[in-house]
Amino acid sequence: MTTDLAAFAKEKGVKYFMISFTDLFGGQRAKLVPAQAIADMQEDGAGFAGFATYLDMTPAHPDMLAIPDPSSVIQLPWKPEVAWVAGNCAMEGEDVAQAPRNVLRRLIGEAAAEGLHVKTGIEAEFFLLTPEGDQISDPFDTAEKPCYDQQAVMRRYDVVREICDYMLEMGWGPYQNDHEDANGQFEMNWEFDDALRTADKHSFFKFMTKSVAEKHGFRATFMPKPVEGLTGNGCHAHISVWDAPGTGAKTNVFAGAGEGQTGELGLSERGKHFLGGIMKHASALAAITNPTVNSYKRINAPRTMSGATWAPNTVTWTGNNRTHMVRVPGPGRFELRLPDGATNPYLLQAVIIAAGLSGIRSKADPGKRHDIDMYAEGHKVRGAPKLPLNMLDALREYDKDKELKAAMGDEFSAAYLKMKHQEWNSFVSHFSRWEKENTLDI
Ligand code: ADP
Ligand code: MG
Ligand code: MG
Ligand code: MG
Ligand code: MG
Repeated sequence: MTTDLAAFAKEKGVKYFMISFTDLFGGQRAKLVPAQAIADMQEDGAGFAGFATYLDMTPAHPDMLAIPDPSSVIQLPWKPEVAWVAGNCAMEGEDVAQAPRNVLRRLIGEAAAEGLHVKTGIEAEFFLLTPEGDQISDPFDTAEKPCYDQQAVMRRYDVVREICDYMLEMGWGPYQNDHEDANGQFEMNWEFDDALRTADKHSFFKFMTKSVAEKHGFRATFMPKPVEGLTGNGCHAHISVWDAPGTGAKTNVFAGAGEGQTGELGLSERGKHFLGGIMKHASALAAITNPTVNSYKRINAPRTMSGATWAPNTVTWTGNNRTHMVRVPGPGRFELRLPDGATNPYLLQAVIIAAGLSGIRSKADPGKRHDIDMYAEGHKVRGAPKLPLNMLDALREYDKDKELKAAMGDEFSAAYLKMKHQEWNSFVSHFSRWEKENTLDI
């Protein structure tokens, strides 16, 4: 593991470090620091005006410092003279409590204190569009059922291969790439890891995919529903909990004792309680997993052209069946299908841990499994909450969920709600074409 960034620069021929942090809206902000200056910056951090980003600060706040976490450093495979490193935000010697990577680090610490180490894998779907972002980049990609389209994935082979090669180089353990369910949509999968590592990789993956797409004259987007009528960009999270971090992990504490004993579908008691926490807090955690106005055009969506949205609309769980919010694809893990491409990589992991830990502590019951096709038979399910219908509903659900708010941190929650309400207010004060078209002659 790297500890000395100056030595890293020397050894790898790095000329610049990109000291990066992620704000409340998931934006990645960075300073490019020449290798000559990195030794001091590694100690002191790079300075930022927090107010200039999506953090709840004023112009009068003192400098915020992003202090690089050297264990996260990655030499950009497509521009090896630059290295990206995730920073932890601090102000006047204290962690900035609302900063997403700090929220996650704190929750990982809480879980570790109870001997729990959350490991996750994410599936960050994306579209390749024209540079203006108004069309799918491949005019021939028009099939009604384009999922796994072998001809279409090969027309974007140069982009997909380049990204996958880089993941191989970085040792992420990529194992498959495909054309997804919407025209112009792709998914690339790599191995799960500790929650913080996955959050860093998730951030880096978005940065890398956008950069490589740009290099090839395209625009990559992770927007939840970039094209009306087509399947949206999900960001499913697969979750398991182990008794040790990293490669030292031996026992998956989610792996059950087998069907008929404690292990319904191969989930242990603790696994079920963790899932119970996710189910209990689902409507509130949507404010984090589905954080934008556009997010709600993916969940609760009408059938897409391919025949299914592949996104949930109700808080239900089941076995290996993709029509529910939670799927248990096999023993010892579950898949949360709620998150979308707009989710903040750090807050996604944080909210999973916050809800899961609360479930373990309160021995939450995930409730009855519904082994049905939710798209066809969802109306038969009684008592399962519907997911929020829009961003404002989700923010209100989050605000009502005192336990989740506290688990995520009161300071974070207040900052997040304030900034997100401002965003909602900006959205509703915007005049839309729809209003004119539908109410001009009222
Ligand atoms: P699917 O499309 O069937 O939902 P993918 O293969 O696209 O699944 O993605 C599965 C993700 O789950 C990968 O990142 C994989 O590494 C991860 N995963 C597999 N097993 C576990 C586990 N025990 N804990 C956490 N993540 C896991
Ligand atoms: Mg300045
Ligand atoms: Mg997948
Ligand atoms: Mg997918
Ligand atoms: Mg999935």
